[in-house]
Amino acid sequence: MSVFDRLESSVQSYARSIPPVFTKGKGSYVYDDQGNAYLDFLCGAGSLNYGHNHPYLKQKLLDYISVDGITHSLDLHTEAKAKFLEALDRYILKPRGLSYRVQFPGPTGTNAVEAALKIARKVTGRETVVSFTNGFHGVSLGALAVSGNEHHRGAAGVSLAGTFRLPYAGYMGDGMDTLDYFEKLLDDASSGLELPAAVIVEAVQGEGGLNVASVDWLKRLEKVCRKREILLIVDDIQAGCGRTGTFFSFEPAGIQPDIVTLSKSLSGMGLPLAVTLIRPELDEWKPGEHNGTFRGNNHAFVTAVAAIEHFWTDDAFERQIQEKAALVEQRLGKLARRYNLEHRGRGLMQGLVMPSGEVADQVTGAALKEGLMIETAGPEDEVVKLFCALTIEQADLERGLDIIERAVEGAMGRHLKQVS
Ligand SMILES: *Cc1c(COP(=O)(O)O)cnc(C)c1O
Repeated sequence: MSVFDRLESSVQSYARSIPPVFTKGKGSYVYDDQGNAYLDFLCGAGSLNYGHNHPYLKQKLLDYISVDGITHSLDLHTEAKAKFLEALDRYILKPRGLSYRVQFPGPTGTNAVEAALKIARKVTGRETVVSFTNGFHGVSLGALAVSGNEHHRGAAGVSLAGTFRLPYAGYMGDGMDTLDYFEKLLDDASSGLELPAAVIVEAVQGEGGLNVASVDWLKRLEKVCRKREILLIVDDIQAGCGRTGTFFSFEPAGIQPDIVTLSKSLSGMGLPLAVTLIRPELDEWKPGEHNGTFRGNNHAFVTAVAAIEHFWTDDAFERQIQEKAALVEQRLGKLARRYNLEHRGRGLMQGLVMPSGEVADQVTGAALKEGLMIETAGPEDEVVKLFCALTIEQADLERGLDIIERAVEGAMGRHLKQVS
């Protein structure tokens, strides 16, 4: 019996479908203790957008450690933090016409969401946060309350309150704009929906199954919120940091959320780092009112600055992501048409909706046998979710797509035989 089976909690999840013991990662590949190589299309669920141990980022971190740069500092001022704030403002926010105060909550995504919900409620003096079907925002109780996932919610053990759920973009099919419903509820004093503090939304739902909100829907959502002074929170923890083809997922919609959460690929190297970006007028926190020991991780600041300087000082990287996304769209689109499957997503956040979670499992299982690590999302884990590194080499991307194609052919062949 392995040490993991003997000692690690049964809460482990990814390791159940991807059991190898990994020792090394470089670029788009990870290696197990038997020396097998795997092409990584899971990428830490979007935490490794620049692949594993990117040489530029790694060198910056090694340099920093070798001169005894500060590692832990609570929320004291450090040079590394100053450089991070300056790089974020100069290369990410300013060129996009955005202005935010940066809050460092704890180092995980759910910490950033908790801070966002708390400041929204504090500033507005209201409690309800509108959230959407199939949204995922983390598993601490506040973030869990606004998440849809049945499996995660079931583990809460307390009532999950303070939210009102609405159907996400497209949830009711093409014939219905779900924001008509939202506006109708807001305009009817007896609808049962009190004026909310905020709306929390993902522009592309990561865990919820790669559902995409259209540019028009996001624009209208912003308008609905502004008209009634409801704060708009965009959770860009998974879809941000370039995953959809622009740094922020909401850029094509031209909206300016009041609050944005970022984490996953923010450090660029898989180090824990999260921020809650707050429109300056809303930054009503009292000193230490929302606290935490690990607010700001200096090693992550160093690699985050390196990532911003290496990838985000002009639009060349965005263009590369969009070119790769077009190839993925073409290849998955073709497979989808062939087997009459739904093809979802945007940028390098795309997937295929398989007939069931079981068929999706067969696809990911067959892919793993061929050396491709890929996972599923969606309410029934039925969506095979392609999350390659944004930096992936063209040949590796094509190789991964070939493996997916063979895996889908195999699983769909069996499935079609069974149902006929
Ligand atoms: C992963 C994720 C979170 C939670 O982040 P953790 O670091 O796992 O707490 C929140 N929101 C979205 C959209 C995510 O994908």
